[in-house]
Amino acid sequence: MFKAIYLTKNDDGGTVAEVKDLTEAELPEIEGAVTVAVDYSTINFKDGLAITGKSPVVRKFPMVPGIDFAGIVHATNHPKWKIGDEVILNGWGVGESHWGGLSQYARVSGDWLISKPTSLSSKECMSIGTAGYTAMLCVLALERSGVTPQHGEILVTGASGGVGSFAISILSGLGYQVVASTGKKNEHEFLVSLGAKEIMDREIFSTPGKPLQKERWAGVVDTVGSNTLANACASTKYGGVVTACGLAGGMDLPLTVAPFILRGVSLIGIDSVMASKDVREKAWNRLAKDLKPSVISEIAKVVNLQEAIEIGGDILKGVIRGRVVVDVNG
Ligand code: NDP
Repeated sequence: MFKAIYLTKNDDGGTVAEVKDLTEAELPEIEGAVTVAVDYSTINFKDGLAITGKSPVVRKFPMVPGIDFAGIVHATNHPKWKIGDEVILNGWGVGESHWGGLSQYARVSGDWLISKPTSLSSKECMSIGTAGYTAMLCVLALERSGVTPQHGEILVTGASGGVGSFAISILSGLGYQVVASTGKKNEHEFLVSLGAKEIMDREIFSTPGKPLQKERWAGVVDTVGSNTLANACASTKYGGVVTACGLAGGMDLPLTVAPFILRGVSLIGIDSVMASKDVREKAWNRLAKDLKPSVISEIAKVVNLQEAIEIGGDILKGVIRGRVVVDVNG
């Protein structure tokens, strides 16, 4: 028997989340299956949506949520993996359409796993988690587009959240001037400690603005969407690059084409879920190289499976600072 967060639907169509004892025989079958003894998982925004049922991210019930995990191969039908290998997983619909990592054991396709970077512990990998990995995908996109520290300031929105915190830390470590937009007055000190050189109130971005505004940003990491992303595009400098990865403020995008056709601004979409193995390995290798261990532990706090259910609701309210790591054996 092992423990997992187990999601079911009640008679009213609401989602019920509980910590339940399961057996290995109940884990889903899949081609090239690898069963992983999970060390750590995390609570991401999407896990909050799954646990609370606030948005239909879960494709079938019952479901074990958890879009990422780190652990050790316990059994394998996949040629690449052997028992004892240390692995990590992000995305691939795990925790949405396939049972996920908020569990002491997970059975997934071996094609979805990558090796854990040797210089990071399982706990550090999940402290970084999908948020840090997504932040790195944004940074890699800015670099690929030729945005260097010499080009000017980078705006990071949703700054105190998981993706935002890691984006600030990575970018400032690489020498970029980072401006952080946050709704949390009590987290200014934290954001400065991560490397933000200026803090802006998120209200400035979340109310509707003009199609073209004063040019300021060489690059943007946006985790918020909606008016925030529209205003960020409208205030990006000529030739600047905006990376869009999130929707914490809304799914809509009330934007005009003006920033693109008059200023040559690029808007780049970032997806962590179906990114290729090469992209994942590149991002994780850079995370292992570019992040300081002290920053990783500063950004993360650890909870157990039972506590994770409550945190699932809190993350949607935007009240969590940094990352929540789940010790599934805690
Ligand atoms: P968090 O909940 O940790 O952070 C989101 C932050 O956004 C909050 O901390 C808050 O920061 C800000 N925020 C919350 N609500 C609002 C609002 N109504 N208006 C404006 N800002 C708000 O989430 P993550 O950092 O883990 O994820 C951020 C976004 O990125 C989510 O939408 C998530 O779904 C998405 N995501 C996408 C991925 C992809 O593959 N594209 C992968 C991972 C995440 P503050 O108080 O500092 O303003």
